Amino acid sequence: MKYIPTIGIECHVQLATKTKLFSEVDNDARGKEPNSCVSPVDYALPGMLPRLNGEAIKFAIRAGKAMNCKINPKSRFDRKHYFYPDSPKGYQITQFYSPIIGAGFVELPSGTKIRIEHAHLEGDAGKLTHFDTYSLVDLNRVDTPLIEIVSMPDIHSAKDAHDYCKELWRLMIFAGVSYGDLYNGNMRFDVNTSLAPEGSTELGTRTEVKNLNSFRSVERAVEYEIARQTKLLDSGGKVKQETRGWNDATGKTTAQRSKEEAKDYRYMPEPDLPPINLSQDFIESESEKLPLMPSDYRKKYKGSIKEDTLEILLDYPNLVRTLEEIDAKNLTTIANLFTSVLLAEEKSAEYLESLPSGQELNELVEMNSKKELSSTATKEVFLRLFDPQMKNRGVRNIAKELGLIQENDLAALEKIVDIVLAKPETKKAQEDFKNGEEKVIGFLVGQAMKESKGKANPSAVQEILRKKLLH
Ligand code: MN
Repeated sequence: MKYIPTIGIECHVQLATKTKLFSEVDNDARGKEPNSCVSPVDYALPGMLPRLNGEAIKFAIRAGKAMNCKINPKSRFDRKHYFYPDSPKGYQITQFYSPIIGAGFVELPSGTKIRIEHAHLEGDAGKLTHFDTYSLVDLNRVDTPLIEIVSMPDIHSAKDAHDYCKELWRLMIFAGVSYGDLYNGNMRFDVNTSLAPEGSTELGTRTEVKNLNSFRSVERAVEYEIARQTKLLDSGGKVKQETRGWNDATGKTTAQRSKEEAKDYRYMPEPDLPPINLSQDFIESESEKLPLMPSDYRKKYKGSIKEDTLEILLDYPNLVRTLEEIDAKNLTTIANLFTSVLLAEEKSAEYLESLPSGQELNELVEMNSKKELSSTATKEVFLRLFDPQMKNRGVRNIAKELGLIQENDLAALEKIVDIVLAKPETKKAQEDFKNGEEKVIGFLVGQAMKESKGKANPSAVQEILRKKLLH
């Protein structure tokens, strides 16, 4: 039997607001002690009341627009009850009935469109770390603003699941609403997979794998579930609706618990927060702040930058934005220097923090096309431009300081060649060349390069040598 897989993805994105969703505590706990970024509102002392963070609303609008979504002028919060030590309140404040972000779509690099059902705002839970006989709780993450993005069942392969998650990540970092630090859980994916016999109009029973935090693990978990469910169905078995855990080391999913239903959460309207009412003007003024998105760059650079190269660059908003200042004729060269020189560099992460201007990069390519810089020298100067200590030194000055500017002045080069030809130790090579031994020209060019302390343009030197020896 042939089955069609259908994959739905819920993605939680941590918003990079200054303060938390319902309190005025620092929302950036990176590098801070556990439980040091927590207010009485977050750990739910009796009588504490939440106050909604306006910046989170602005970020949600931008995130929604990045996914071509309708922004709902009216939305509100609900309580989702569950009892677990990562949430001192005993409930999560979320938007179950009327979310702020409505329907939209995300276009994958392949052109496939994945519809978004909705996305809602909610507070994150704390973090538990389990040991043999005890667990520790860190509440720094409690009520960090999240948007949870829910896809329509439009994904039908592990590859598209991977591409969808990666595109969501890019949209969020281009929109500037999240740090997008996957390693630290800034984006987490819950992936449900079901199989239906080809031609069937109904979806099969689905399983859900929660809290995946890399595109690769999303892809592998879906591949595994498709294979596992196919085998189960082929042997006459039934897929059980359940939550399964992913083990990255074994590459397998294992049963965890059967799925809760909405009624288990006893949803109720959040009584401590008024509904959100947004004016059209406010929605529009926030929407206008959305910069160019990856799909805009794909259209913009179609035909001028190779697709593969651009897809690599689209992981780095700063680099793609720098391309906007690059002259059309230099685009390919700069895009290639970014991918094959800069990103290959060990210090690339550090270098990405201090980008040269488009004007400097244009000047560099000009110097290369005028043969003032060899291609090796161009790469060397290129990397120096990213060195924070070389900031604002100027392209030409850096090239000069490194002694990399090539001598192209013909009169000067001729003088150098004459000195070389006058040397007794080059006499034999000169005779050999005249007798047709082509390869000794390399030795003579080498002597001229040495004489010029590496500054002569080697192809110009070779031309002069040929002229002088063969006439
Ligand atoms: Mn959620």
